[in-house]
Amino acid sequence: MTSTQHIKKVKFAIIGAGSAGLTAWNEIKQVTDDYVLIDSGPLGTTCARVGCMPSKALIHIAEHYHSWHEAASLGIEMPAQPILHSDQVFERVRRFRDRFTSGLIANTTDTLTEQHFITGRAVVFSNGEVHVNDLVIVAERLIVAVGSKPIVPDDWLENLGDLALTSDTVFELDALPNRLAVIGLGVIGLELGQAFAQLGVEVEGFDAQAQIGGLQDPICNDFMQEYVAQDMPIHLNQQVVPLREQNQVKITFSDGEWVGDKILLTLGRRPNNDWRSESLQDLNIDPQTLQLGDLPIFVAGDASGFHGILHEANREGKTAAQNAINYPETRGRCNLTPLAIVFSHPQLCRLGVAFSDLDLSATIIGTFDLNCNNGRAIVMDQDYGRIRLYADKQSGRLLGGELAMPSAEHLGHLLAWSVQMQLTLNELSNMPFYHPVLEEAVQNVIDTMLDEFNAVHGLAKNK
Ligand SMILES: Cc1cc2nc3c(=O)[nH]c(=O)nc-3n(C[C@H](O)[C@H](O)[C@H](O)COP(=O)(O)OP(=O)(O)OC[C@H]3O[C@@H](n4cnc5c(N)ncnc54)[C@H](O)[C@@H]3O)c2cc1C
Repeated sequence: MTSTQHIKKVKFAIIGAGSAGLTAWNEIKQVTDDYVLIDSGPLGTTCARVGCMPSKALIHIAEHYHSWHEAASLGIEMPAQPILHSDQVFERVRRFRDRFTSGLIANTTDTLTEQHFITGRAVVFSNGEVHVNDLVIVAERLIVAVGSKPIVPDDWLENLGDLALTSDTVFELDALPNRLAVIGLGVIGLELGQAFAQLGVEVEGFDAQAQIGGLQDPICNDFMQEYVAQDMPIHLNQQVVPLREQNQVKITFSDGEWVGDKILLTLGRRPNNDWRSESLQDLNIDPQTLQLGDLPIFVAGDASGFHGILHEANREGKTAAQNAINYPETRGRCNLTPLAIVFSHPQLCRLGVAFSDLDLSATIIGTFDLNCNNGRAIVMDQDYGRIRLYADKQSGRLLGGELAMPSAEHLGHLLAWSVQMQLTLNELSNMPFYHPVLEEAVQNVIDTMLDEFNAVHGLAKNK
């Protein structure tokens, strides 16, 4: 404590006014007025500012622009090549971003007075003190929801300067690059890389691993690699180091060299950790209660490092707040069926038990190739993709699966809900399936898996 520091005592302090922090704030303010919300800024949440929303706005434009190229195969002759105004593209993305962030801020932090909202970077100490600017907040219970940031090696940024983009800066562009390399083909790299490729940029992708888009199932991953490579060459198992050469970036890899004008670094995200003072550095976060060690501190959202997706950040914000309210009594979170969607082309979805966690000898696996026999996919020119579903051999319960196909975002939800409801192959097979729809592809997989289940258990074949 120095003589210039002021002290403020509160029952609850929430650090971070992002999605998880605001969810926690919604819970806390219902039970007490004795709280403070702290954020270092910029406000408006990662999701709305530089995450889910601007990326989907850009993907939407890219899909539309790209679809013009398919007109000829549908018998539609275009009078001329469509003209893309890249400044207007990015202006539109930012307009949507601003709409989301300003609405959010107006309904949350803007409604709070100085008593309840403080701007500044917070550091937490093990005695419960939170230091922000020249203020020491002594909080009985704390919720930390400080989010995450893109992983970028410091020396890369120093070397590449303005030639390097991350998800924090890419939506600030006004013009499209001519040649772009994407390093890291996980969810964000794949989504943005394909969007730029659809907008006419020459994109090449690099990844140190052999999986793309977070896929684990080898059948879906192999399909997706082949599909993506049609528009965007990808180089996997490549540990590359981009280097600046005058106003260009150069990447040397095992099969050659890439030279271009911009590079997008999507190497993953890491939880923000600068809120922890030295004494808190080694404490673990309980994955169920979100408690930090045995302290009255609960860590939610990307900051906890467990999920890195929005709906889980919101759930964690709620769990953290409830455990802070009921402390020292703590409860485990309500575990949702894992669900992750990638807004790539085609979309990807992972749900339920991951392929790597399956006991293959105790699992029935169903596979469907969208190129075979799904009438709707064929007439929509979308007869590409793979469905892989996993069921427990003993009970017939659906465990999980992966999809790499058009509309995976919707089918994935239905399947995740089915897993969470513990539906069996038999129950799923008896659901209504309209004709002609993509869902019939799922029906086909389920029926094949049910035949296998019935054979294993000596039951009559499914009719
Ligand atoms: C490009 C991109 C696309 C994405 N797309 C999707 C998607 O389609 N679907 C999906 O589910 N998820 C997506 N995500 C992930 C999703 O955006 C995040 O999981 C979610 O926004 C995390 O919310 P949060 O509350 O944990 O963190 P944030 O919203 O980042 O909030 C953290 C807050 O803490 C503040 N803060 C940080 N440090 C301090 C400190 N020491 N003191 C005070 N305040 C501090 C920050 O200013 C910030 O306001 C995407 C992410 C990116 C980057």
